[in-house]
This record gives sequence, C-alpha cells and structure tokens, in this order.
Amino acid sequence: MVDRLSSRELRERFFSALENSGVEIVHLTAPSEKPIRVALSAGTFGEPVVFRVFLWNITHGGATRSEDEFRIQLTGSLPDDVAGETTIVLGWSPAFEVFAGWSARDHQNRVSRSPSLQVKKTTLVAAYDLGLAAASRGGGDVVVALKPELLAAYLVNADKLHMADPEEVLAEIELITPASNVPEPGAPMTPSPWVRPTHVREIAVQLRAWDFSKRVLDAYDHGCCICGIELMVIEAAHIVPVAWPGSTDETSNGLALCAVHHKAYDKKLISVNPDYTVAVSANRLSQLRALNRSAGEDELIQLDGAPLLRIPAATEDRPTPANLLLGQVARNWD
Ligand SMILES: [Zn+2]
Repeated sequence: MVDRLSSRELRERFFSALENSGVEIVHLTAPSEKPIRVALSAGTFGEPVVFRVFLWNITHGGATRSEDEFRIQLTGSLPDDVAGETTIVLGWSPAFEVFAGWSARDHQNRVSRSPSLQVKKTTLVAAYDLGLAAASRGGGDVVVALKPELLAAYLVNADKLHMADPEEVLAEIELITPASNVPEPGAPMTPSPWVRPTHVREIAVQLRAWDFSKRVLDAYDHGCCICGIELMVIEAAHIVPVAWPGSTDETSNGLALCAVHHKAYDKKLISVNPDYTVAVSANRLSQLRALNRSAGEDELIQLDGAPLLRIPAATEDRPTPANLLLGQVARNWD
C-alpha cells in the first residue's frame, strides 16, 4: 500500500479527478507552484470560480495516536484567505483513495508552525463506501471526505458545506454518514439518503449523476453505442429524459454516447429504436437544410437503420424497448 504520494503525484491525482468530472478547468499556476490555483466553471453559463488549493497527504497520526486518527500535517506557507478566491485545504488518502477537505478559516489563527488537521478513519471509510461523508471536528467546523469523482461537486459547494452553521450541515449530512456500528445482516434498511435539503443537495444530485454515468459507461465498456469511439469522450445519456415523470437512473435507462452523438440525440437528429437500430430524423435534416446548416449530414444518413455497435453484456443493463419507445415519445420523435 502506498503510504504517501509526491507533490507531483498529488497534483496529478487532483487534476485527473477534476478532468473526469465534466467541469471546465483553467490552470492559473505552473505545475511546480503551490498552492494550486485553478478556475473552474460548470456548464456553458457557469461563472468561473477561482480556487486556491493546498494539497497534502493524509497519513495516520503516528504510533502515539489512536488507530482511528488520520491527519494532514501543514508545513511551509500556511493557508490564508484571499479576497474573491475560495481557499481549500485538501488531503488525499492513498490508503482509502478519498479526498478530505477542511475550511481554511479554521486554522488561520493557529500559532503552531506545523499544525495538523485531523480526520477519523471512520469518516474516510464512509466516504470510500458511500462517496461522501462528513463529521464535526468540534470547534464549529466540519471535515468532508469524498471520492475523487465528487471533487468538482465538493469544491463548488465547499463554502456552503464549511461556512454554514455546522450543526445544520451535520443534521443534513447525517443520513449520508453511516453510524460507526455496522447494522446486523437482515436489519431493516434505512430510507434512501439522497433526498437532501438545501446545502448538501447539490452534491447529492451530482453523486447520483456520477453513479448513473459510471454504471452506464461501464456497461458499454466506455464506447459510443452508435459509432464505437472510445477516447474518453463518452457520456451517459438518459433515454427517458430526467424531466419526464417516471424517468429513472437505472442503467437500462441509459445509453453511452460520444459527445457528438449525445448532442445529436438530445437535438432529435438521431434516436435509437426499440429493436436497437439507429434512426435518423428526415424532418430535422430537412429543417437544417433549409437553414443551410446541414454540412456533415451524410455521416448521419449512413447510420439510419444501422444496428447499435455496442449493447451491454448484462441483460438487465440493456435498454428496455419500453424505455426506448418512451424516450422517443418524450422527445416528440417523428
Ligand atoms: Zn458516437
């Protein structure tokens, strides 16, 4: 087991987590500079937010500490707040493969030259199991632990998670933090923890989206079901759109599509028939011709009636004909 990563490896871990989360990244510092400064924006219209990230290894507290105590040891330039930027103190645990984040305000006034910030092993394990976990650190602060897939979701919500009333955040996040005692087999399941109000909700929504996306991409072996391209440009599309009543996050309500075919699918240029063949909209193409925006149409027309190139191996992951039909109805496919 790797005990700690080099600065370069930590940085790579940080950016690879962000690159897989769909946010736009602008690097504001050279690779050797600390802290990392990065601007992130989510979605086409998202305002970019500048983050200053202090990144350390999370290691065990040492032989004199309890088995449950993990921590980061702050050295060098200590985190301080800069107006207009969000400062994040982030640890990476090579042992549990999760990040943990602390708010910067908490330790600004510490006098020690080498303070440490703690996180319990149970919190790290909970994040490994569930994706996200939080715990009160006492003194009115919250430490949040999370899987790499949620790093972008955590960063854009970090202020809310750390700066809000800790009691409130804890109350909201409590359900997604498992009790330290594992329930007996056969014990009744707790209700679905993902319907969270206010602050934690955005992260919970992203967690669901990440989980759906991961299952769909795995089911299609990370290739577009229409053209077969891989190259990490594949996205998970809902067959029955999310906004449609009864839409689910089951893998069988998903298709793995490359970015171009995903867009074409959402714009009603192409569809997938219940018999797993591709359909191309003649109506939509004629509209585009009228607008003089039809260059490349031959590429699409070739696909009309072609069988999908990829179908999940597991029967239960395959799109159901009912979903495919409903997806066409919901998009007013013609
Ligand atoms: Zn494709």
